Amino acid sequence: MDLLSYKDLKRKVWDTEKCCGCGACVGVCPTEALYFDEEPRHPKSNDYCKVTRDEVPCAACYYACPRADETCSDGFGTILSIYESKSKIRVSDAQSGGVVSSVLAAAFESNAIDGAIVMGVDKWSQAAQPAFVQTSDAVLGAAGSRYVWAPILKALREAIADRELHKIAIVGTPCVTSAVKRIRQSNVDVLSIYKNAIRVSLGLFCTEIFTDSLLEELRTGHGIKPWEISGFDVKGKFIVKLRDKAALELPLKDLRTSKRTGCEHCVDFTSEDADLSFGSVGASPGHTVVIVRTDVGEGFLKQAQRLGYIELSSGVDLASIAKIGAKKKGIPFETAMSLLKEPGYDAPSSSRKTE
Ligand SMILES: Cc1cc2nc3c(=O)[nH]c(=O)nc-3n(C[C@H](O)[C@H](O)[C@H](O)COP(=O)(O)OP(=O)(O)OC[C@H]3O[C@@H](n4cnc5c(N)ncnc54)[C@H](O)[C@@H]3O)c2cc1C
Ligand code: SF4
Ligand code: SF4
Ligand code: SF4
Repeated sequence: MDLLSYKDLKRKVWDTEKCCGCGACVGVCPTEALYFDEEPRHPKSNDYCKVTRDEVPCAACYYACPRADETCSDGFGTILSIYESKSKIRVSDAQSGGVVSSVLAAAFESNAIDGAIVMGVDKWSQAAQPAFVQTSDAVLGAAGSRYVWAPILKALREAIADRELHKIAIVGTPCVTSAVKRIRQSNVDVLSIYKNAIRVSLGLFCTEIFTDSLLEELRTGHGIKPWEISGFDVKGKFIVKLRDKAALELPLKDLRTSKRTGCEHCVDFTSEDADLSFGSVGASPGHTVVIVRTDVGEGFLKQAQRLGYIELSSGVDLASIAKIGAKKKGIPFETAMSLLKEPGYDAPSSSRKTE
């Protein structure tokens, strides 16, 4: 009988500042015992836990949490192939090549999914908003990267437990894709509906995410109001895109106070646990790098290509990916480069710029 509960999460994850804020524990708890309030470092409990109150086995939160039993990440995960890609449809607010949104739109068109968990934004406050969408239009409306944190996987409850959908895609940063993998691999009863409903996991490259104190910092330190912001980007510097003015570029080191604490423990840059990983570094301007990691991922990507939603080409600059990946893992660049090129984890040579 598994009597692990949120108290074990508290001991191993919350109290050690390892919580990445993915929201998985909140989303899967059958008694809605867990929640986030203004304190973003970790969730809290209202103590309506089945285990601690009634000794009914559950442990869903524990086995959904990517930080509860962390294993050391070796290399950059499975890599079947690497492409540069660009959307062939209009994706208005695309962050890079609009490929994540296009793959999802194609998946809706071919009925491969009946819902997707993405991250929307309140354009007035710039607060990130975990969103569950069910149409291509809605998915295209949620394009772009949110650098202000929100617990995206809390949307699991609405998507799967409440609406009882069976074919869900989930977009997330590497920590989120690790939670998704853990749910897919778990044998816990309460997690089985989630496990069975997740069709595909789309991961983003990620170096860090910021708490909403970032918005306060921009307002007080730089006189920028949230509604003047049209988006963010990180390209060596932190870029604040503004609606009516030239973008503001800030050195990243000046924003450290706003970085989420759980990011300090993170060594995954490329979403190693996803079916498909997407990033901008290593791609030409207006394009997205796509790493194919599983057959499921390959199926979704090729379907988007077949339906004319995306184009795939060669020419990824692996050295740029290795450079950031090495820094995040604390390994030498040469090691990172050889891990990305290791035979068996190899991309087709035609898709390489740096052979
Ligand atoms: C916090 C963060 C940090 C990143 N850091 C890097 C980096 O250092 N280097 C790099 O190369 N790429 C980074 N990326 C990835 C990059 O910004 C793009 O998301 C990626 O290149 C895909 O672009 P696209 O145009 O194909 O995606 P789009 O078509 O614009 O779609 C993006 C999708 O991601 C969803 N989304 C946006 N923000 C989040 C979020 N916070 N959590 C979950 N889902 C989200 C959107 O709802 C949308 O569905 C980062 C992304 C995020 C969110
Ligand atoms: S009821 Fe289950 S998921 Fe919720 S807090 Fe307790 S052990 Fe965790
Ligand atoms: S890492 Fe995710 S699942 Fe684990 S405690 Fe934090 S929010 Fe919950
Ligand atoms: S740096 Fe790591 S912990 Fe932080 S948001 Fe990105 S993937 Fe999650």
